[in-house]
Amino acid sequence: MDPLEHASIPSLVYLALPGEPTLLGLMALVLGAIFPDLDALTNEHRSYLHSLLPFLPVFLLGLHLRGSFLLFALGWGSHLFLDFFTGVIPPVYPLSRRGWGLSIVVNGPGNFRINVKLIERYPEKRHNYELEIGGSFALIFLTILTAIIRLR
Ligand SMILES: [Zn+2]
Repeated sequence: MDPLEHASIPSLVYLALPGEPTLLGLMALVLGAIFPDLDALTNEHRSYLHSLLPFLPVFLLGLHLRGSFLLFALGWGSHLFLDFFTGVIPPVYPLSRRGWGLSIVVNGPGNFRINVKLIERYPEKRHNYELEIGGSFALIFLTILTAIIRLR
């Protein structure tokens, strides 16, 4: 999942919730949602910041402090949640590099079935930094449009 998708999906949820979303809140959420991919600067893309070990204390602190800090933590949590469905996240990295994820494959239309499988493997090393963002560009465009409408 690329940074535009990671930014868009929690933002659309935030903007769809009842209440008064704020630009500061949205920025904190987006920052938290793309923050874990700073791991890409290390040898392994899904490593330190995709682990629950640094995330859980930040999340608990967010529950205590509330406001923008909580939104940052929720953005970070949304990143881990989404990555869980598009590969694996290593919950106790660096104690273990073993990652977990959920694979959902839909077959059809003639022999329709849904396969749900827990996957366990080590995160792959990142070999290139090229991103194909064509599909996500439409998503971020809709997110910005929704933000303009909701943040008036
Ligand atoms: Zn990630």
